[in-house]
Amino acid sequence: MKVLVIGSGAREHALCHSLSLDPDVTALHCAPGNAGITEVAELHQVDALDGAAVSALAVRLGADLVVVGPEAPLVAGAADAVREAGIPVFGPSKEAARLEGSKAFAKDVMAAAEVPTARSYVCTTLDEADAAFKAFGAPYVVKDDGLAAGKGVVVTDDLEAARAHAAACVGAPPAPSGQRGSVVVEEFLDGPEVSLFAITDGETVVPLQPAQDFKRALDGDEGPNTGGMGAYSPLPWADPKLVDEVLQTVLQPTVDEMRRRGTPFSGLLYAGLAITSRGVRVIEFNARFGDPETQVVLARLKTPLAGLLMAAATGNLAHLEPLRWSDEAAVTVVVASRNYPGTPRTGDPITGLDEVAAQDAPHAYVLHAGTRLEGDTVVSAGGRVLSVTATGEDLTEARDRAYRAVSRIRLDGSQHRTDIARKAAEGA
Ligand code: AMP
Repeated sequence: MKVLVIGSGAREHALCHSLSLDPDVTALHCAPGNAGITEVAELHQVDALDGAAVSALAVRLGADLVVVGPEAPLVAGAADAVREAGIPVFGPSKEAARLEGSKAFAKDVMAAAEVPTARSYVCTTLDEADAAFKAFGAPYVVKDDGLAAGKGVVVTDDLEAARAHAAACVGAPPAPSGQRGSVVVEEFLDGPEVSLFAITDGETVVPLQPAQDFKRALDGDEGPNTGGMGAYSPLPWADPKLVDEVLQTVLQPTVDEMRRRGTPFSGLLYAGLAITSRGVRVIEFNARFGDPETQVVLARLKTPLAGLLMAAATGNLAHLEPLRWSDEAAVTVVVASRNYPGTPRTGDPITGLDEVAAQDAPHAYVLHAGTRLEGDTVVSAGGRVLSVTATGEDLTEARDRAYRAVSRIRLDGSQHRTDIARKAAEGA
């Protein structure tokens, strides 16, 4: 099977890493990729937002399967273009990707499918947002309706900060469609968060193992929201029945509702969940593998990945054998540039990668996110630079290995959290 992966983050490196281990994969391509992915896949230049260019590349390479990693190409219709060229693609259509692309749309689908989620108001004026703030009280949860790479959400006790974010969302220049900007204001959900991924062909839903990610920039869940600073799996504290419950109450009803609307969702449905005192609630849906949770979930998946993604892309999930999982734990720690999630500093050399490969592999390894090659030197090229991933008998061992590998890496001004998976490893 010839596989083309679209994207350039650590998630795509994790996908390429797993695909490269699948004996059915005879050729692996990635576009645009990054400095780390070159080790397992042939890289190609492409504008991932240009569906015609993506599908032309897939045709030229004779790809049997295209896997679209990030949300932006999906929302831009990249998967549709590839599908129209007659090539199986793992990733939802533009219409179905609205589950992620519009929080208001996702709320509408959840209401129709009776999926438990936070109560919310979709507001198009600051007055409407003010009424919603009054209705729910603090802490205030204010979400930009459109895609914002995980950074369009403000959760705050400060009413003025909540109002400022709402004003920025509704006052943003009108979208190309001519619509006003809108903002979703919703009730605060307390309780731990869980990311649960499911592979679906639009009908059958196959959940993966749950993971937890760390959205805030700083230790102790302080600082601004980011794209994600680390993750771990499994979740020793979670109810073993959680996956089944979420399949029955969230994933399957959502997939059924999308099919009923004539816009079936095939690809990866990611449910961001809060385990509240009143039960499981959906915080958000994403239409693709989450980053950094993918790094830890795939580290534990023993079923060959290409066959699984191909079964989803071709509507054959019902015939799939049950997934096989490693009993090991996995932890990933994100190494980010100075200033992330603000405007990150890039172009700095990264050293120590060879030491990790020589001393920590195969239990620990470095997945690249924002990196590129300058001659023979790997340099930083984005906010999140590396995702240092390790497995172990339990979370304590996986964590120790991940942090040992992190300590070998040198990138001027880099930052990482020191508490990824700590509480879970300590049984707290
Ligand atoms: P989202 O982009 O919707 O995943 O939101 C990003 C982060 O904001 C989530 O992972 C949560 O930590 C937080 N968040 C979002 N919605 C809520 C909510 N209703 N209650 C509490 N925290 C929330």
